Amino acid sequence: MKLKNAFIILGMAGLISACATNPFTGKKTMALVPNSQLFPTSFAQYDQFLSENKVVTGTSDAAMVTRVGQKIAVAAERWLNANGHVGYLNDYKWEYKLVDDKTINAWCMPGGKIVVYTGILPVTKNEAGLAAVMGHEVAHALANHGQQRMSAAYVQQGVAIAGNVAIKDEASRNAFNQYYGIGSQVGVMLPFSRAHETEADKIGLYLMAIAGYNPEEAAELWKRMSAASNGQAPPELLSTHPSNDSRISNLTALAPEARKEAAKFGVTSFK
Ligand SMILES: [Zn+2]
Repeated sequence: MKLKNAFIILGMAGLISACATNPFTGKKTMALVPNSQLFPTSFAQYDQFLSENKVVTGTSDAAMVTRVGQKIAVAAERWLNANGHVGYLNDYKWEYKLVDDKTINAWCMPGGKIVVYTGILPVTKNEAGLAAVMGHEVAHALANHGQQRMSAAYVQQGVAIAGNVAIKDEASRNAFNQYYGIGSQVGVMLPFSRAHETEADKIGLYLMAIAGYNPEEAAELWKRMSAASNGQAPPELLSTHPSNDSRISNLTALAPEARKEAAKFGVTSFK
């Protein structure tokens, strides 16, 4: 019995030490898989995905994806540095790829590995619309939302963890794929929660504004996203990013705040 209690205490200590602080909310979040394990897995899975899909290069759309991605990354770094989180992105290896696929989707894996599908471009419509999508996806990654879902699932399944999960075995790799954007390899990718969506909307809005894109465009993008599901299968992005009626009004209400945030960084004109 005493031994069992000791294990429980050890386990709890493991859980506590495996918490990370979300720099955007200041909240403690569960991070059972440390970035030192998560990022190499992420980078390898990303490379594998790119090797199995058609990456678009040398087009103006591909150039736009790179341009918007770089601006969002710079905005994230500026925001984090200004808010006392210098070094937060040290292990990030940003990459922005356009993939030839008619699926209406985009995602960002841990460590800044981004894919935009050509199928989403008619919905994003313009560069600011693309910035809204990429800002939102980067926000999920920065706030470790995937990591939190993965950690919660481990706890639910009673997997014994003391901050040291091996994600080398196949079951764990599948879990990884399920919680981060590579749906096609395992069938279904699990949706983000409403709370995570709201958080990513706000952070994404700030990032796009600091990057110089009109934050009012985010609400327009989500309007187009829901319209895209009329009469046909809903966009893949919506299956992993549940939307609700208040999303558009929230984004509209937050846009002036995002402009003010951008002004702190000297950004006062938006495209
Ligand atoms: Zn989302």
